[in-house]
Amino acid sequence: MRKSRVFATVLSGQDMVIDDVMIETETLRGKRPVTSEVLVFAVRPKANQASRCSRCRKRCPGYDGGDGIRRWRSLDLGTTKAYLQAAAPRAARPEHGVVVMHVPWARPGARHTWAFEDTAAWLSAHAAISVVAVFLRVAWRTIAAIVARVVADGRDTNDLLAGLTRIGVDEIAYRKGHRYLTCVIDHTTGRLVWAAEGRNQDTLGRFFDQLGAQRCAALTHVSCDGAEWIHAALRARAPQALICLDPFHVVAWALNSKPSTRSASAPPRLPGPGIATPCGRSARILPICPASSAPVWL
Ligand SMILES: [Zn+2]
Repeated sequence: MRKSRVFATVLSGQDMVIDDVMIETETLRGKRPVTSEVLVFAVRPKANQASRCSRCRKRCPGYDGGDGIRRWRSLDLGTTKAYLQAAAPRAARPEHGVVVMHVPWARPGARHTWAFEDTAAWLSAHAAISVVAVFLRVAWRTIAAIVARVVADGRDTNDLLAGLTRIGVDEIAYRKGHRYLTCVIDHTTGRLVWAAEGRNQDTLGRFFDQLGAQRCAALTHVSCDGAEWIHAALRARAPQALICLDPFHVVAWALNSKPSTRSASAPPRLPGPGIATPCGRSARILPICPASSAPVWL
């Protein structure tokens, strides 16, 4: 097996040809400059991937040489930083204007390879971004930009709002509680499927706008707390869905209610006007976990 193919396999770049491998010295600027040796791979796309538009992947003639030779950070090889280095010519397309040519190892406009960006995005979903930034040896803002790019890329191919029937709606505070995100999860998959800044009826209305009338009508159950703005949005956009009070809030309310205000046999008094379902029945707790048993009446 040729060494070029071995390196290409290690770098997850089956569609590229490696012409050369070099060791260079890199100095990171800062209060205390750090010098280290890095690996640089001189690469080019395979013939069937060359001369293609980076937006639509159609074959197209070259326009100019762009900014010349560019580098893309790849995943480390062991503990050594690795870069791919290649020419980045541009193409002039009637539908996109002047755009950089496609390279099979990175997204358009990215300074990191597919493998690096996908790894950074996965790690960011499982650890604090500040931790990921230290681990991958990049700036915090770089991780944030990578996550935004990977998410945008994923939106083009994955419709997270497809097939929703049982969802959960809640808010989460960030930046020391001064700002809020409204989050929607899919109880069937356990995934977060939508989030937006704000916590009011208009914010949730944007979710329903995106979902569309047909898919709103397919919702059967919505878990949430007693917030009236959630209930009002549900009544307006998905009146057929059964509102289910999630167990976390019900238990919290029950624990916080004063014993003197209720008799031993009476159920705990729940706050908020939204505890009744649209059809007038008592609020009830439905199992959040698909494996749970039958609904429990409160
Ligand atoms: Zn194109």
